[in-house]
Amino acid sequence: MSDLKDVIVVGAGAAGLAAARALAAAGRDVVVLEARERVGGRTRNVEVPGSDAYVEVGGMWVGPGQDRVLALLTELGFSTYPTHDQGANIGDFGGRVSRFRGRMPRLNPLVLADIGLTQLRLDRSARRVPLQAPWTAPHARELDGQTFDTWLRKHSHTATGRAFFRLVTQAVWCAEPDEMSALWAQFYIHSGGGVDSLINTTGGAQQDRVVGGTQRLSIAMAEELGDRVVLGAAVTEIDWSDDEVRVRAGRRQWRARHAIIAVPPPLVSRIRCTPDLPAERAQLLQRLPMGWTIKVNAVYDEPFWRAQGLSGQANSDRRALGTVFDASPPGADPAVLVGFLEATHAQAAARLAPKERRDAVLDDLAAYFGPKARSPVHYIEQDWATETYSRGCYGAFATPSTLTRFGPELRRPTGSLHWAGTETATRWAGYIDGAVESGQRAAREILTATNP
Ligand SMILES: Cc1cc2nc3c(=O)[nH]c(=O)nc-3n(C[C@H](O)[C@H](O)[C@H](O)COP(=O)(O)OP(=O)(O)OC[C@H]3O[C@@H](n4cnc5c(N)ncnc54)[C@H](O)[C@@H]3O)c2cc1C
Repeated sequence: MSDLKDVIVVGAGAAGLAAARALAAAGRDVVVLEARERVGGRTRNVEVPGSDAYVEVGGMWVGPGQDRVLALLTELGFSTYPTHDQGANIGDFGGRVSRFRGRMPRLNPLVLADIGLTQLRLDRSARRVPLQAPWTAPHARELDGQTFDTWLRKHSHTATGRAFFRLVTQAVWCAEPDEMSALWAQFYIHSGGGVDSLINTTGGAQQDRVVGGTQRLSIAMAEELGDRVVLGAAVTEIDWSDDEVRVRAGRRQWRARHAIIAVPPPLVSRIRCTPDLPAERAQLLQRLPMGWTIKVNAVYDEPFWRAQGLSGQANSDRRALGTVFDASPPGADPAVLVGFLEATHAQAAARLAPKERRDAVLDDLAAYFGPKARSPVHYIEQDWATETYSRGCYGAFATPSTLTRFGPELRRPTGSLHWAGTETATRWAGYIDGAVESGQRAAREILTATNP
């Protein structure tokens, strides 16, 4: 039997590591158990074959307002660089392809007015959703009892306007508007500073990249923690009471006064808990499915699209690869286009053979940027729904009536168990920033409870 630790953290993503770092800094004896043979969870660098360059196949951008992750990056000595955002974007909406600058593609003025007004209403309604307790929002039950699609259909009056918001939903949540609660959508919009803040490059969530890649943030935290981080330790069983926890990973076992569970919500249900988790928490976990994205990096010798005056950003309401950005590092060595197959597009693409999927993706890139796009030097894709220890991304979302019935359980500790992970954040839930917030909050809960 192992020594009694102060805290066991399950999961070495940004949330678990931020929690462990805060606890270690306060002098607590902490161990982090990570199922994979690497840290960083939903952030990951993948080497470009034959070079020392890498692409980021998971979480990649940081932006203004993401104060926790930005502070942590500064503290750990990381710098950022701006996402390439010069030149014209490609928009393919309502059957019309246009080059445009700024956020909105060229569209019929009626459609533009419809989108503008719908966004205004959405932002206004979202601002009224309290971040600490979305279930107390005005008309919370009515909002939570409908899907985001129902809300959009009520407020957006053109087919292209609705298609625009469907694409926004796919790009922001990797889910379809008809799967998600309208209250969750509005909580999330408020949590990320509004629709523009979520979808913009400059001035928004896609503004900056981390030198070395976002996974380096977790690697740096793990290096600080040293042998307190145990890799290849997939937790399968947790015995818990009000004052002690026993955690098993294979044949190994750890004991502590508290545990922080920092894994994606649906994966908690795969851990056998004794006694069973309370019914309300179990019901909550059954209502938070993960989104689905296949993220694709196409690597080229040169950023040929820039020579055509293009930014590398493209969006379409009919192509499977609905969202594309220039993901090249400074100096564009190598030049990278990153694209996202999201929600139902990811589901359909996952059924294709790898070669068919690659051809379909390159067809879409060629339609946006011309025939050169069809011949990348490397093609690197990552389907997060097939990852044993993620099962989807970017995060989990709440189905209708989940927040109003079970929302208060999101962060409520269960005896000696505390809950972290980006899905439990109040700001930038679903993002790396939210993961850091959640880890630091869970650590504070334990420090406050044990240091009155
Ligand atoms: C394709 C993609 C694009 C994204 N883009 C962005 C972006 O640009 N900007 C942004 O801010 N965010 C982005 N995100 C989201 C961001 O990556 C996540 O919100 C964040 O990394 C989540 O951190 P976390 O610690 O909460 O969870 P995770 O990173 O999922 O960490 C959980 C950890 O728990 C481990 N684990 C699971 N089960 C067990 C078990 N039984 N025992 C032990 N360990 C276990 C996992 O292996 C994992 O390491 C993106 C995500 C993806 C996948």
